[in-house]
Amino acid sequence: MSERFETLAVHGGEPRPAPHGSVVFPIHQGTVFEDDPGGDVRYIRLGTNPSQRHLHRRLAALEGAEAAVATASGMAAITVALHSVLAAGDHLIAAGAFYGGTMQFLAEHAERLGWAFDLVDPADRDAWRRALRPNTKAFLTETITNPLVQVGDLAGAARFARERGLASVIDNTFATPVVFRPHTVGFDLVCHSATKALNGHSDLAAGVVTGSKERIARVASVMCAYGCALDPHAAFLLSRGLKTLALRVRQQNANALAVARFLDGHDAIAHVRYPGLATHPDHRRAAALFDGFGSVVSFRPAGGAAAADALVKSLRLPYTAASLGGVESLVTRVSANEETAGLPDDLVRFSAGIEAAEDLIEDFAQALGD
Ligand SMILES: *Cc1c(COP(=O)(O)O)cnc(C)c1O
Repeated sequence: MSERFETLAVHGGEPRPAPHGSVVFPIHQGTVFEDDPGGDVRYIRLGTNPSQRHLHRRLAALEGAEAAVATASGMAAITVALHSVLAAGDHLIAAGAFYGGTMQFLAEHAERLGWAFDLVDPADRDAWRRALRPNTKAFLTETITNPLVQVGDLAGAARFARERGLASVIDNTFATPVVFRPHTVGFDLVCHSATKALNGHSDLAAGVVTGSKERIARVASVMCAYGCALDPHAAFLLSRGLKTLALRVRQQNANALAVARFLDGHDAIAHVRYPGLATHPDHRRAAALFDGFGSVVSFRPAGGAAAADALVKSLRLPYTAASLGGVESLVTRVSANEETAGLPDDLVRFSAGIEAAEDLIEDFAQALGD
């Protein structure tokens, strides 16, 4: 049965009949379980406690994968995924602008681990070809980049990797499986920071990796070795958050589009970037691949950095904070390290929450002095 996403978010991976008739899967907080002859070892660090396993089944259902593991943070998910496909002496093609934590991990730790990498444009197939080396083993990309919300050639990337025997890994945090399910175009491993939209309530840290049983067994083995399985109580909360994922993300997408359109037509705004706008360079690709365009809009006010500062200070509804994907809207200026990476210092990033679009637009209007 192939259910629609709204149904999957509620029922995907839920055992039926429900344990003890409980509609909500209970929290198993225990660290250790009695030996199960013929079964596996159930121990919290291995991610085999019943609450962890329940979450894994739910996550696999939502990404349309055979298997999943949940980790203590999004960075844990990305680093264990990379460790599962790269050994010392291997080379990685990193196609994207990359989340700050991922960039920092590669810049500070890859060399020490014996991994070489090349940073390339996620939409430029010739650049991927030029980056190939005999020891290239993996291809890493992101569905939507931060903060310029670029959408690479995702189907092309998965195919490129498959044809050359490279493991393809994608960070799907900015899209969520509501917008895009990377396994459907052939990605091997899909990672998330579940701290963002998957949980959606800005109250826990978690990460996710999904893939085939075989690949996830390797990821889980690295996760056990590094000791970064997700705590069962956080697993319970994340599973609860996932129930409303489809509703939340659709509302965020609608709000982001409404705000992007409002800003795009405003005299005090010089430039808006949102993949849902026809003026975005990747709009056609995003429209062909995605269901909705994500919750993040970035823009530059006409008055430069001072105007960006004034706008952020004048907004009443969004919190001034740098995350995304929660029920509350957030707004933030480009950070000092993003500035040094060549981004304009007047760039503002808006992450849509689930408030009423009209209220968000009225707030932007008052902040822009309308
Ligand atoms: C936040 C984020 C991460 C890191 O996740 P944490 O849960 O903070 O470790 C990775 N990738 C993207 C795209 C993110 O937004």
